[in-house]
Amino acid sequence: LPGTLSRPLPVPRVRDLAVAGPAVEPPPSLAHLVSADPGDRAAHAMGKAYRDVVRALRGRPGRIPDLVARPTDDQGVADLLDWAGERQVAVVPYGGGSSVSGGVEYRGDAHRAVLSLDLTAMGRVLEVDTAGRAARIQAGTLGPSLEDQLRPHGLTLRHFPQSFEFSTLGGWLATRAGGHYATGRTHIDDFVQSLRVVTPAGTSSSWRLPASGAGPSPDRLFLGSEGALGVITEAWVRLQERPRHKASAAVAFTDFQGALGAVRALAQSDLCPANCRLLDAGEAALSGAAHDGSSVLVLGFESADEPVAARLERAVALARSHGGRHEGTDGAGGREDGPDGDAAVRAWRSAFLRMPYLRDGLARMGAVAETFETA
Ligand SMILES: Cc1cc2nc3c(=O)[nH]c(=O)nc-3n(C[C@H](O)[C@H](O)[C@H](O)COP(=O)(O)OP(=O)(O)OC[C@H]3O[C@@H](n4cnc5c(N)ncnc54)[C@H](O)[C@@H]3O)c2cc1C
Repeated sequence: LPGTLSRPLPVPRVRDLAVAGPAVEPPPSLAHLVSADPGDRAAHAMGKAYRDVVRALRGRPGRIPDLVARPTDDQGVADLLDWAGERQVAVVPYGGGSSVSGGVEYRGDAHRAVLSLDLTAMGRVLEVDTAGRAARIQAGTLGPSLEDQLRPHGLTLRHFPQSFEFSTLGGWLATRAGGHYATGRTHIDDFVQSLRVVTPAGTSSSWRLPASGAGPSPDRLFLGSEGALGVITEAWVRLQERPRHKASAAVAFTDFQGALGAVRALAQSDLCPANCRLLDAGEAALSGAAHDGSSVLVLGFESADEPVAARLERAVALARSHGGRHEGTDGAGGREDGPDGDAAVRAWRSAFLRMPYLRDGLARMGAVAETFETA
């Protein structure tokens, strides 16, 4: 509420954290991959949950890794694991560090020291199979760089978690991330063809082709393993053609139950919207998608193959039959978008992308703003 927020907390300086020296030193053969810089180490101590942001602001990061290593290839990863295993050094794989569940922290006391294994120096698309629409990509590739490298091929992974800007392919695989356009294929699992994982017991490489239905799938073992079984170093992933046709609409509802009914009807139809997101009145107001207490259903369709206006029109009609109001200039909502789409959709998208930045700013002012998931 205006007037109730306190002055922003200052961001602590690294030197105020009094980071102790590392408990181990890397061998000379690996020293070029390893950093003992206190700022680098402190930056790898935690993920990015609200709780982590607050702990960082209060200067209480918890256990700071003794070393940060940035291997550039599988051999480097294997050598670091061998050394760490011999020295009782815990290894925590680190992608973009956007974990919201403590995944990049070391918790325990069974090890002499902690090594944060940062994969971001392994950030290349290594091979593209345009005919098969797939690519072999290094695990440390951050979202924007991954899409930049695929763009010249006319292909996209189209995996967009809200943390896209600061998270990596390896992190998505290790956490079974879900992206937006959340009603189509959204989980990273859906895109995996094969994985390469360096473990303390050797390297595991699954077959890309031919696909096999025999026995348990090793990929399923590693997906979501949060770094506990080894370090994912690369993956073959399925790609899509970049969409050429897009259409979006925002439908307002006075009655939230009606809006829920519309979402259910859409989910049970064959329409498969790329985006189907219901904002309650509070979120709609906060994002600028509505100012009159309405809930807003954000709908989006896209295709590389065929116009999608008719599908959007049908979806808007379904929403209307549940009490929705669509007041676009086109009447029925069946227009193909320009690059920016419907104004209310645009307002929501921009608020959605800004939200994490806003959250961190609000945390500095003593306000809680966080995503909560319910089922
Ligand atoms: C603002 C915000 C929005 C978010 N939005 C979403 C969202 O929309 N959808 C979603 O699913 N998640 C979301 N997240 C959570 C987080 O971004 C995801 O879990 C993401 O997949 C983590 O990727 P990362 O590269 O940052 O991994 P990290 O945070 O670095 O690591 C996550 C876990 O995976 C392990 N790991 C990382 N890389 C590897 C590797 N190469 N091999 C083995 N293990 C590895 C780590 O040890 C850790 O346990 C969000 C987080 C924030 C802060």
